[in-house]
Amino acid sequence: MRKKIIAGNWKMNVLPSETATLVKEVAEATKAYGNVEVVCCVPAIDVAAAIGAAAGTQVGIGAENAHWEAKGAFTGEISCPMLVDAGVKYVIIGHSERRQYFGETDETVNKRARAVIAAGMTAIVCVGETLEEREAGELVEVIERQMNVGLKDMTAADCDKLVIAYEPVWAIGTGKTATPDQAQEVHALIRATLAKLVGAETAERVRIQYGGSMKPGNAAELLAKPDIDGGLIGGAALKAGDFAGIVAAGN
Ligand code: PEP
Repeated sequence: MRKKIIAGNWKMNVLPSETATLVKEVAEATKAYGNVEVVCCVPAIDVAAAIGAAAGTQVGIGAENAHWEAKGAFTGEISCPMLVDAGVKYVIIGHSERRQYFGETDETVNKRARAVIAAGMTAIVCVGETLEEREAGELVEVIERQMNVGLKDMTAADCDKLVIAYEPVWAIGTGKTATPDQAQEVHALIRATLAKLVGAETAERVRIQYGGSMKPGNAAELLAKPDIDGGLIGGAALKAGDFAGIVAAGN
């Protein structure tokens, strides 16, 4: 049985001075739903406030990116040891916005994800096709490439610290959600591809989140599908009530 994991991706939306309030509201609103792992992934500058506010609650705090080197001359970057030292437990890697705007590639996703896992944190590795790729019939090829390269050299043990987020790019922040059947089809493909990389038994243990305009109103149907093990939530993670509605649907 895979425990459902619902993670908020705050992106660049919450000030440090607003962070403690939102984390505390999320903790309060989700405390009744113990069957779900609840995570808030926050901007790096919000991490300290988020960790402080989450102390003693069921909410885990994550970051939105991490560099693969442990230290050195990488101005503006944040290393895994820094995140661990601050108390971070999860890191989103390879979000489509990082791929689209910041030159993230499958190769750099692989380096970052392996560094996150080696540091003892959980990597939430994002994969997903653009609308053009889907319409061109390239869905399977894109997902397989993102996984084969992005997860290269990961071991079965590494997979204990791996969550995959399927985020069709056309559904992120657009209000368009993949139908539960469309999402399930790709989640099954992701699990089958993972099985080829690390074995079927390990692939069965790895949680695969859906992300893309998930809301309280559509979460239950998506989360009822056999290979959908949680959600990565953007817009709806910024209001504790909406986020808690999604967590409730997964409980
Ligand atoms: C995301 O950014 O990961 C995301 C899924 O955003 P939204 O829920 O707003 O579509």
